[in-house]
Amino acid sequence: MRLSTTNIPCPSCGGSQVFLPSSRRLSCEFCHQESDIVSNGKVTTRDYLSAINSSTQESKTKREVACKRCGASFVFKDREFASRCPYCDTPTMIEPLQEITPNALIPFTLSQRAAQKRFKIWVGSRWFAPNAFKEYLEEGKKLIGRYIPYWGYDTHTISHYQGERGDSYYVTVTKRVEVNGKMELRSVQEERVSWSSASGVIDSDFRDITVGATTTIDPSRLDSISPWHSSDIHPFDLRYISGFKAEEYTIELRDGFDRAKIEIDSEIRYRVKADIGGDYQRIHNISTEYNDIGYKALLFPF
Ligand SMILES: [Zn+2]
Ligand SMILES: [Zn+2]
Repeated sequence: MRLSTTNIPCPSCGGSQVFLPSSRRLSCEFCHQESDIVSNGKVTTRDYLSAINSSTQESKTKREVACKRCGASFVFKDREFASRCPYCDTPTMIEPLQEITPNALIPFTLSQRAAQKRFKIWVGSRWFAPNAFKEYLEEGKKLIGRYIPYWGYDTHTISHYQGERGDSYYVTVTKRVEVNGKMELRSVQEERVSWSSASGVIDSDFRDITVGATTTIDPSRLDSISPWHSSDIHPFDLRYISGFKAEEYTIELRDGFDRAKIEIDSEIRYRVKADIGGDYQRIHNISTEYNDIGYKALLFPF
């Protein structure tokens, strides 16, 4: 069964409008008429627990579509929901099929020309780049930017901890030391640490802890996204996707949160040490409650 496609029709000629990163507007691929993208509201944070409780098995639907322009049928790769017709290059999208649909994105900011230039420099710096790859660039073929899914989590944590605080002090001891080949007795200062038990409660707020939500990209590259600000994100809108590739998550919301916890917990350890104070700290146990968990299903340009 073929899935029905969606596109952004041009108001003057009926061609396909695509998102133009340089002007942040829509542009028709045929008549080049541009139009504004009027934003539809604010980015919201969704409730994590209700999403976890309602989550079902992934949809296994084959993503077969028919091109609106040339009629050829083709299948989207992996979890893609936006791409271009491999025969006539028409932008083609379907509604996201996964249980959780994206609700926010950062639009592309790099124009086609700038992306190509940057990519050429990158490929040029790699002597092992396959020739086919280099030829592909020399022919000036279009690079299609890809939107990649991420999870962004918010939570308020309460952590109870037990540990020890170490305060250092110095004592004078007499030691045998070697001076010009002869052993001599000398007084030296030596550090000692007095340990006392420490315990407490730490409250922390975490906002937009971001982890990659796809297995199609190497995790080290996925997690190396630069920090972003909540003012960079827009409500999810297919108009920002038109002309690009976009894929849905393959890492479940719950598994993403487990990864976010690693980052959250290491920050909590750091804060616990600061709370213990002193010169040295030992942590025996931290027990953390994660409250008010919220999430965003994000798409980032990649
Ligand atoms: Zn047009
Ligand atoms: Zn086509």
